[in-house]
Amino acid sequence: MSGEPRVPAARGTTPAYGPCVLLKHGEIFLKGHNRHRFTERLHDNLRLALRGIGGSTWIKTAQNVTVLGGQVPQEALVERARRVIGFNSVEPAVRVPSTLEVITRAAVEAMAARPAGSGFAVRAKRRDKQFPLKSSQLAGHLGARILEEVPALRVDLTRPDTVLAVEVDRKETYLSWTRHPGLTGLPVGSSGRALVLLSGGYDSPVAAHRAMRRGLACDFVHFSGAPYTNPSSVYKAYALARELNRYQPPGRLHVIALGKAQKQLAVAGAGRLQVVAQRRLMVRTASELAGRIGAEALVTGDSLGQVASQTLANLAAVDEAAGRLVLRPLIGWEKQEIIDAARAIGTADISVLPDEDCCQLLAPPRATTRAGLPQLRAVERRLDLDEVTQELLAGVQVMRPGEDAVPAAPSCPAPV
Ligand code: ATP
Ligand code: MG
Repeated sequence: MSGEPRVPAARGTTPAYGPCVLLKHGEIFLKGHNRHRFTERLHDNLRLALRGIGGSTWIKTAQNVTVLGGQVPQEALVERARRVIGFNSVEPAVRVPSTLEVITRAAVEAMAARPAGSGFAVRAKRRDKQFPLKSSQLAGHLGARILEEVPALRVDLTRPDTVLAVEVDRKETYLSWTRHPGLTGLPVGSSGRALVLLSGGYDSPVAAHRAMRRGLACDFVHFSGAPYTNPSSVYKAYALARELNRYQPPGRLHVIALGKAQKQLAVAGAGRLQVVAQRRLMVRTASELAGRIGAEALVTGDSLGQVASQTLANLAAVDEAAGRLVLRPLIGWEKQEIIDAARAIGTADISVLPDEDCCQLLAPPRATTRAGLPQLRAVERRLDLDEVTQELLAGVQVMRPGEDAVPAAPSCPAPV
């Protein structure tokens, strides 16, 4: 990260002057009297994200800004903070005492490293009204001194190459000139807990990420076609959950072998209803699991009309079986938007890998786009649904992606 603030490392255990990172708060900024609750959650998540960083760190709050520092390279702090949901921006910064002389020196030093001929602007904000110069006066003063000392630069207030942001608090002032966009949103956990139905495709991981950005802590459930498929879909779900857990206090992955129950539905004559009947069984089981783990909603990667199982009629048939709120963050998204988002969050490279997904197992050549409830119920009556659900849950395998060792291969007979 060339060109980012670099000054001698902080000394001592108390926050010393030197490099730090400014984290501008996102939507919690709009919260009223319970804003502190959101801020605490944000800081808890930040602390978790900093675990194992290899040195001591500190966090403090100024107005709508969290300041992060420590005995570790600034780049490492930036890298960790950029994965925490709830910040609008992540800005490597320099922290100095709030005296005009020191601020001026730091501003000149910062701009001295900018390429000759480039344009800059100073944006100053005086949060401490006791500071002798008003914001605009301070910006003017710093701009003039920078030009004096670094004459190779030019002032450009309309399209500057570099914006030097200077924020003056009572005791200390922060100078920053690099701004990474944050993930915005609400702190993970502030909206409660959800259970994400995670397949191996592009959609459900992106849906999980959107759910996290609305403050939901996510656990995951994946249905494999075992014992009739190989474990490739489980590996993918594990890798996806591990990637997603980098954005939240790690959630668990529950793996359920659906193959036998899928076969029972086929034997019961599901025919063209097979896919929707399977989906109903998935949400029924997931809903029961959600109740056990304290998740209030299910999340899926459905997008309206994307495939036959995602028509209004079929989604309604699935909802009817869920008996619990089903959130579909991607309902209005196009496939390309979903793939672009998957690339941005880092799940696309996993989703693209081939797998043996349970949905391909026993899929009818032409799945119905309008599954009728009476017909679905008629198929389901030929099974003891409660017993099937309980059996599925009895065999659940729980993993902690990102925290435990990679799962051992489940036993896998040849695919049907
Ligand atoms: P994805 O790209 O997420 O796999 P998709 O376009 O393949 O989605 P479907 O196969 O119809 O769409 O699945 C719709 C949603 O149902 C998925 O986004 C996921 O939430 C859930 N789902 C499908 N298959 C599974 C599975 N094997 N385990 C858990 N959830 C699943
Ligand atoms: Mg799928």
